[in-house]
Amino acid sequence: MSSLDTIVKEIADEIRQRTDRGEVATYIPELARVDPDAFGLAVIDAEGNVAAAGDSDTPFSIQSISKVFTLTLALGKVGDRLWRRVGREPSGSPFNSIVQLEYERGIPRNPFINAGAIAVTDLILSGHQPREALGEILHFMRFLADDQTIAIDEAVAASEQRTGFRNAALANYMKSFGVLENPVEFTLGVYYHHCAIAMTCRQLATAGRFLAHLGRNPTTGMSVVHPERARRINAVMLTCGHYDGSGEFAYRVGLPGKSGVGGGILAIAPGKASIAVWSPGLDSNGNSHLGRIALESLTKRMGWSIFGV
Ligand code: GLN
Repeated sequence: MSSLDTIVKEIADEIRQRTDRGEVATYIPELARVDPDAFGLAVIDAEGNVAAAGDSDTPFSIQSISKVFTLTLALGKVGDRLWRRVGREPSGSPFNSIVQLEYERGIPRNPFINAGAIAVTDLILSGHQPREALGEILHFMRFLADDQTIAIDEAVAASEQRTGFRNAALANYMKSFGVLENPVEFTLGVYYHHCAIAMTCRQLATAGRFLAHLGRNPTTGMSVVHPERARRINAVMLTCGHYDGSGEFAYRVGLPGKSGVGGGILAIAPGKASIAVWSPGLDSNGNSHLGRIALESLTKRMGWSIFGV
């Protein structure tokens, strides 16, 4: 076993013993059914070696982690014009906050808060039917993870569609400023469905590899984005990927990362590894509590923080 394998197994053992698990998200009723004790970790290094432990092959709802991939897709479609529709500054507000939108005339602060991600989804949707846009997103995820079995959990999507009153408020508010081009219900439908994609830690870590290696998957040699774009997506993940907990995540973990209310986190150690962790209990910012602790331990032991040691 390599030292990375040993460290990953040790972290999974340590996490299993902890009793501070955070709170599973309940505002999407279907997410409340998940086992709060689940824990998975998968790390893929530059050579393509996978170190995995715990429930790393159990699919979970990736939720807002999907926003990294929709941002990548939308940048591929419209390039830097995307930044006319959405900013790239940390928000200092919860992921579903509405207050800033009024001050900033319907332009969301960044592509990872819900309003920003809904605006990005709307860009992907333009010129297509919702079904086509969703098919394109799913196809992209399957390509990146090199796994055709990845699917949308329809029960989760339907559950959020029934209860997504805040997202509907955000979308309607943006629509009133002309920031959304498509019918609000179409954009929201695509948004809820891409958030409801279910993936395992192993699949997610594979999908994130291009971000760790200058825009391309070093194993397949497939280029996904230019190196400069990969660097910039990582920058937005570092500053905005954990909402109002982004500063704390940078302070403790020191890697670009994106969380989701399903309890997953995708973290990127540039040049070194792509990492996915899953523990459903959340902290007060809606980020995985033990997921963050596991990543803190991993980066410390591997010396992977982008800020050194
Ligand atoms: N689908 C969720 C929502 O819109 C995503 C939020 C998240 O993962 N932080 O509320």
